Amino acid sequence: MLSESEARQRILSTLSPLPGEMRPLLEAVGAFALDELRASVSLPGFDNSAMDGYALCFEGAEVAAGVRFSLCGQQAAGEDQGLTLRPGKAARVFTGAPVPAGTTAVAMQEDVRATPGAIALTEGVARGEFVRLAGSDLCRGQIFVRSGEALTIPRLSLLAAQGLSEVRIARPPRLAVFSTGDELVQPGHALRPGQIYDSNSTLLALLARGAGGQVTSVRHLSDDLAETTHALERAVDQADVLLLSGGVSVGERDFVKPALAAVGFEAELWKVALKPGKPFLFARHPRGALAFGLPGNPVSSYVTFQVLVAPALRRLRGAPADPALPLQRLRAAESLRNSDRRPHYLRGRVGPAGFEPIGRQESHALAGLAASTALARVPAETEIAAGEDVEVLSAQ
Ligand code: AMP
Ligand code: MG
Repeated sequence: MLSESEARQRILSTLSPLPGEMRPLLEAVGAFALDELRASVSLPGFDNSAMDGYALCFEGAEVAAGVRFSLCGQQAAGEDQGLTLRPGKAARVFTGAPVPAGTTAVAMQEDVRATPGAIALTEGVARGEFVRLAGSDLCRGQIFVRSGEALTIPRLSLLAAQGLSEVRIARPPRLAVFSTGDELVQPGHALRPGQIYDSNSTLLALLARGAGGQVTSVRHLSDDLAETTHALERAVDQADVLLLSGGVSVGERDFVKPALAAVGFEAELWKVALKPGKPFLFARHPRGALAFGLPGNPVSSYVTFQVLVAPALRRLRGAPADPALPLQRLRAAESLRNSDRRPHYLRGRVGPAGFEPIGRQESHALAGLAASTALARVPAETEIAAGEDVEVLSAQ
């Protein structure tokens, strides 16, 4: 059986980002930059005032309280009147306004007594105070986004500050979601004895969408080889990724593997040492489509998505092929024990005392998962005592 990180590495090594397209900044949140971007303008673009106040020109390192300056003009944000100051002169300036040539510092208006045509300082002012120098945040020519970096909201606003209205990102992966099982009934319909509602369709479609995918279809399949094969055949050329849940084991009623094979998918890996989630299948079609067969148990579906599918979707969207998960080291609020020979992802939340498990830690226990906001990874055959560190994945 493959280790979880070997499995992730193998999946990522076969993937590359989908073709790029220019998108408006507002539609690129959470995407990954495909290109390296260099500043075309310095930030600030010119020396400007950090305060509403007075640009001063003086000699020496500072000027003391009581010193007077005569006023020779005014400059608001958005205009540059080409003013020049000589020693002993001041100009009224507002936040963001270019400071006149010759400015030594800006005195904020609260530290000034103004009289017609002149001001007197009520506080000392040091050279350079309240002047934001051109290029002090970012210099023209400097790289400000690297290829593969996440386009966070602050980063996208930096692109806007560079005058860009669009950014090149990978087109979103199209996903076809399938649930399998004769016992499943769609929400909104009545249950008969022995039946359960299909919750994985909702789970996986929303996880896929939350991971930046475009869900093009959501379908339930009976435990029937012909029906499954036919549905997969149609999806191969319509989706980049087929996301299946259930039917992936080797019981007589499990048809995902044979149906994928019948359609021409080649299994790249099968079974990962992971709890919950051992039956897991990754396959590729010669025409490019990928297929992930996830275990049917809802918590197993969730964990395998977070740990093995989400990194693949990030890669398709342009993230680097980094097999490390974004785990955080946090304190365990209580002792966490895993006697299994597979790493166990416990469901829980991060409280003031650290990670606390919630609910039944069993692969069918959806209500416990629903109350959770984080997964803690407890390595195989390990006990983590209360107060020790544990690796935590915060997940959608
Ligand atoms: P399977 O992998 O098909 O053997 O399913 C394992 C368990 O997960 C069984 O108890 C199924 O009833 C349950 N299960 C499978 N698919 C779903 C689904 N879409 N929604 C909720 N439970 C499911
Ligand atoms: Mg089944």
